[in-house]
This record gives sequence, structure tokens and C-alpha cells, in this order.
Amino acid sequence: MMISFGDLAKEYAYLKKTINRNILKVLSSGRFILGREVEEFEKAFAEYVGVSYCIGCASGTDAINLALRALDLPEHAQVITQVNTCVPTVSAIVNSGAKPCFCDICENSLMMDASDLEKRINKNTKAIIPVNLYGASADYDKLIHLSQRYSIPLIEDCAQSHGARFKGKKTGVFGIMGCFSFYPSKNLGCYGDAGAIVTSNARLYKKLIMLRNYGQKNRYEHAYHGLNSRLDELQAAILKTKLKFLYKWNERRRQIAKIYDVFLKGLNDVTHIKFEDGAESVFHLYVIRVKHRKKLQDYLTKKGITTLIHYPIPCHLQKAYRYLGYKKGDFPIAEKVATQILSIPLHPYLKDEEAEYIAKNIKVFYEK
Ligand SMILES: *Cc1c(COP(=O)(O)O)cnc(C)c1O
Repeated sequence: MMISFGDLAKEYAYLKKTINRNILKVLSSGRFILGREVEEFEKAFAEYVGVSYCIGCASGTDAINLALRALDLPEHAQVITQVNTCVPTVSAIVNSGAKPCFCDICENSLMMDASDLEKRINKNTKAIIPVNLYGASADYDKLIHLSQRYSIPLIEDCAQSHGARFKGKKTGVFGIMGCFSFYPSKNLGCYGDAGAIVTSNARLYKKLIMLRNYGQKNRYEHAYHGLNSRLDELQAAILKTKLKFLYKWNERRRQIAKIYDVFLKGLNDVTHIKFEDGAESVFHLYVIRVKHRKKLQDYLTKKGITTLIHYPIPCHLQKAYRYLGYKKGDFPIAEKVATQILSIPLHPYLKDEEAEYIAKNIKVFYEK
């Protein structure tokens, strides 16, 4: 068997007729930027998440950048995110003009550690960005409590958590803004780059509509220094079509995760992530912590199974962010976990037999 990490071609084959029809409709309309498709998708996605507004933009990275810009941060503003995030969270903070700062993660859930966060808050901390990594959710009871106590806004990074819930509500509703990516491999992905910000704050909505479009208020009138970061009509038409399948795809992801949970249970060398109480994952990734990771990966490669690591180098140890002044040992949990985590294939078009084949091979590796 050959099992790739994702299979977007299979997904397209399944959607081909509808997607092609909707793409052709856009091409014939002659309207490509900020038209009806974008409006309709924004409305549908806001409703899906459970917020009042959605503002489409060019990428998940821009969604975070725009969200921070909408807050009008003062000079020397610092923004804290968790150190095990995907690097674009950090790029976005830098792009917004703020300084990225990091905090460590909870050993069990790998989500933002509220108590470590609290220790790192200072007078320059102007925003906090928890990341709902791997399709799960942070503990928003704790984070909202801190956000209120220190009057620092929360912005959620939901790039991996389309449809994930915490205590029944979908991620994206807990922060003052939630930032999504529609990069092709995300739970909801387009055929290029796109992103969106969701919010229920009317003032921020109005500002974000301007900020994504050169700060334009009316034609020829610019109220803010903005970006060119728009969601285009083609990608919006694709996303609108695919949004209808998101529920079903997330359910399928959960089924596959169940198979892995059951088959890998009881292995001493494999530790499962323990979600925060009340968190329901949509399994953007299925991540386990393993012993002898390199050997296991090589073994699985020989069996035709592709695995990846999300992410092998915590952000503070990336060369690009050395200037921030952190050093090895600053975030002991994230640093340890980075040497153990392994992502095994999980996507809606993975077959039961394939998931079982993967799980059985992991079992065989450790029982040898
Ligand atoms: C994918 C991702 C992003 C960035 O999204 P892009 O659309 O690629 O810019 C940001 N944060 C996290 C956690 C991600 O997984």
C-alpha cells in the first residue's frame, strides 16, 4: 500500500461537476474581485461559525495581520502566542508591526498554557493569540478569564480548527476576532491561498472591510493605511461549494481518529494528546507522541506510509526569530514535545482499511 499524507485530487474528483460549474459561472460573470461570491461565502461562513460577520482576505497569515492592525496597537506592542505554533502566526505578528512573544504549552493538550501565559504578560502585552492546533481547541474558560482580568484582547488562530468546538461553541467565537486560513490542505481549503476573519463586533467589521482593501472607505477615499488582501471570486465560489461538505468531512475525520484511538490504545511507546475538558477536535491532524520517532518514521516509509511532524522546531529556535532573544530551555515543554510528536495520515478520503494498515504497522513496530 502507498498512503500519502493528504489526497486533494480525490476530493476534487468527488466534487468535480459542481466545482467546475461554479468556477465557470464566475468566469462568465466577468467579476473577479469582491463580488457576490465573496459576499455569499462570507455570510455562509459567519453563520457556520456562529458570529455576525466574516471578512474574506488573501490568506490565514493576512487574517491575523489584519486582525492585529484593526486593534490599532501602540508602538512597542507585544503579542503573545504559543511557541509550538505554525510559523505564519509569528510572521503575521511581525507583519502587523508588533513584537511576537511566546509562551509554553500544556503538557497534555499541547494548547496554550494559561499559567505560563500569565507569567509572561507585561505592560506592553496588547494581544494574545491562542492557536487551536491540530483541529482541537484551547481552554477558553481560562484564557477569557485572563483576557478580562488584564484587559488584553484575544485573537484566535483558527487556521486548523474549522468546526472544532469548546463547550459546544465553535472556535472563532471566543476571541474578539477569529482568524481562518483556507490553504488547500486545511479542513476547509480552496485551490490557492485565502483566509478570513470572523467577529461579532460591528466596529471591527467595518474597519476590516477597509483594511483588506487599501484602507478604502469610498472610492478614492482612504481612511486607513491598509493592505491589498482580498478573497477573490473564484476562491470564494470554491469555498462556498466546499463549505456544504465541511460537516460531513469533519465527521469522517472523527471516524478515522476513532480507528487510530482504538488500535493504538495500550501501546506503552505511544501517548495520545489529551484534549482540554470540553474540547471537540475536528482532527485537522492526528498527532501522537512516540518514542524512537526517527526509526518509526523510517519503518513506516518502508511500508509506504507518509508521516510528517507539526512542528519539529519550536518558533523561538527558528533562525528567523533569533533576534527576539530567546534561547534553548526557555520553553521546556514545547521543546520536549517537539522531539516526540508525529502526524500520521488523516483526511476525509482515507479508507478504513488504510487507517487500520497504518495503525497495525505502528503496533508491529513497537511489538517487535
Ligand atoms: C496554515 C496556518 C496559518 C497560515 O495560513 P496561510 O493561509 O498559509 O497564510 C496560520 N496559523 C496556523 C496555525 C496554520 O496552520
